[in-house]
Amino acid sequence: MLVIQDLYKQFGSLVAVNEFNLRVETGETVVLMGPSGCGKSTAIRTINRLIEPDRGSIMLNDSNIIAMEPDELRQARKRIGFVFQHFNLIGRLSALENVMLGLVMSGVERKNAESRAADSLCKVGLDNHLDHKPDQLSGGQQQRVGIARALAYEPELMLWDEPTASLDPILVREVLVVMEELARFRSSTMIVVTHELPFALRVADRIVLMDHGRIVEEGKPSQVFVSPISDIGKRYKELIE
Ligand code: ADP
Ligand code: MG
Repeated sequence: MLVIQDLYKQFGSLVAVNEFNLRVETGETVVLMGPSGCGKSTAIRTINRLIEPDRGSIMLNDSNIIAMEPDELRQARKRIGFVFQHFNLIGRLSALENVMLGLVMSGVERKNAESRAADSLCKVGLDNHLDHKPDQLSGGQQQRVGIARALAYEPELMLWDEPTASLDPILVREVLVVMEELARFRSSTMIVVTHELPFALRVADRIVLMDHGRIVEEGKPSQVFVSPISDIGKRYKELIE
């Protein structure tokens, strides 16, 4: 579904992502891990061109995202859901309205947007909270609204950039449960940046480890965390033992 080739991005003199090659098959869950600053966010953000890479191609079902004109890119972005660390909900809008907003702005008729928004809030277990404003929701519930907002477009590909990193430890689980259910039972195609090792072990079809802008190792969790070849892989193995 997704083929990234020779991706390269530099900020000033700092090379953030280098020789980055990744293939993701339909239905696959790829967990991208590595030390802070190694280029995970930069790599994942180039996929919908929130960051413009200096070089490389990103083929999503045979169309190169990097070569797209603005109109075509806008269409492609609807097929790619993105969930960030910070959920950026609009405070004066209810959960339902927050999810509807983007749909309505992109031309979906209001009634239809409302039912799609309600459906996707149901998928994240918030069907009883449609009318709640963000300040009436816990951090975990707010992030689930953020997930519903991405799901409402029925994306082909979901990108997750540390979706639990700003949550209280006790609220992390409810978000991971939703992610796991999407990965396993709805067979979404996803790339997840996370430091949640147990989640990665359980849910990832493939682990990709980065260090200093490069992919240093990839494979099944049972391979990467059991007999790692990279220094980073060895450090994760120690954390698990
Ligand atoms: P990670 O997500 O793995 O923590 P990032 O992709 O955010 O890493 O960052 C990779 C490197 O690029 C880091 O050294 C970071 O400081 C740098 N970087 C990221 N974004 C910018 C930017 N907009 N301008 C300058 N440097 C950046
Ligand atoms: Mg990051």
